[in-house]
Amino acid sequence: MTESNNDKEQAGILNDNYGKMPGSYLFSEIARRVKDYSQANPESKIIRLGIGDVTRPICPTIIEAMHKAVDEMGNEKTFHGYGPEQGYDFLRNAITKFDYEGRGVKIEADEIFVSDGSKCDCANITELFSNDIKVAVCDPVYPVYVDTNAMMGRAGDYDSKTGRWSNLLYMPCTAGNNFLPELPSATGDEVPGIIYLCFPNNPTGGAIGYEDLAKWVDYANENGSIILYDSAYEAYITEDLPHSIYEIPNAKKCAIEFRSFSKTAGFTGVRCAYTVIPKELIRNGASINFMWNRRQTTKFNGAPYVTQRAAEAVYSEQGQKEIKENIAYYMENARIIREGLTEIGYEVFGGVNAPYIWLKTPNNMSSWDFFSYLLEKVQIVGTPGSGFGPCGEGYFRLTAFGSAENTKAAIERMRDKL
Ligand SMILES: *Cc1c(COP(=O)(O)O)cnc(C)c1O
Repeated sequence: MTESNNDKEQAGILNDNYGKMPGSYLFSEIARRVKDYSQANPESKIIRLGIGDVTRPICPTIIEAMHKAVDEMGNEKTFHGYGPEQGYDFLRNAITKFDYEGRGVKIEADEIFVSDGSKCDCANITELFSNDIKVAVCDPVYPVYVDTNAMMGRAGDYDSKTGRWSNLLYMPCTAGNNFLPELPSATGDEVPGIIYLCFPNNPTGGAIGYEDLAKWVDYANENGSIILYDSAYEAYITEDLPHSIYEIPNAKKCAIEFRSFSKTAGFTGVRCAYTVIPKELIRNGASINFMWNRRQTTKFNGAPYVTQRAAEAVYSEQGQKEIKENIAYYMENARIIREGLTEIGYEVFGGVNAPYIWLKTPNNMSSWDFFSYLLEKVQIVGTPGSGFGPCGEGYFRLTAFGSAENTKAAIERMRDKL
């Protein structure tokens, strides 16, 4: 605690839950170790395969649409001020047509809420739920789901020894269950109010099939739970798998879906995403769609016009062709990593329907020991699996978001020197 600089203190003026948050240790610790290493070894050529961000530039068709939208903003006749908080119709209609009708799913435009990112959507949505519910998360997991509930006071207390919050339901995902969480108990306190699922998965690269996802939908409908389904990586699916949870019967009664243009179209810096809340999703007589609309119209003023025109261009024929080329580029990197490491003798998961490769560290090395081993022996940086949750211990994440050249060079180094 820092000393107060104010004479008059009110006890309990702050949200104490912030004081319980462990430091965001993972990426700062990686940065520190890489910096120390490169200072001690200035000649070394470090290859970063830990990147969780896209690197390919935005496609020409999308850039063209953005330029046009920018010009409209500079003209009195075509200028746009505040837009609809829920997103422009041109984009909401394109989404229902391409992302849903295209897969045989009927979603109405007013069930789509356009935003400036899925990270904030899957965090903000927690406002709609009571603090008394249990929240179920996979372990390992995208840390946003955990931290955001902890900040709301729904996670209990953090135990630095176990790396877990006392009041969350953790669903282990390991090679033992093929990285698919098991259904929580359906009795007593252990029935979750909300369940976060992310497929294809960051960090494990695992994906889920129709039948397995149907088990979750049935569980949620039987127990009154709501599934928060993050499908940020659906565009990376190469096998016959559901791209949307609404491809599963009765999912509209129990699921909210998050989609983002970030990984689909390289929008991590542009910022555009959307959340789907079907009108059939009702709890305690209240429509969640209505509640979210109330929330968004109060606290959000819409994603930028230029950004939404850019997102619309993603759905044009040429836009689709171009974004698919970028995704294929990353997935070729994924193939190179996956096949290369398998040949060298690693046990490798993911990389088929996701840009993430999740590998088992050799000889039961800890995730951080393997991090140092890779950095020191072959100057490759990845992400220790334990940083995503205790069940990530003994695993390591590599990403396909590097350049093709660096990706190939990294695998050659590992083959020659390890
Ligand atoms: C990258 C990513 C997102 C997208 O977040 P944005 O805020 O839309 O950029 C969502 N979920 C997961 C698991 C991700 O890895």
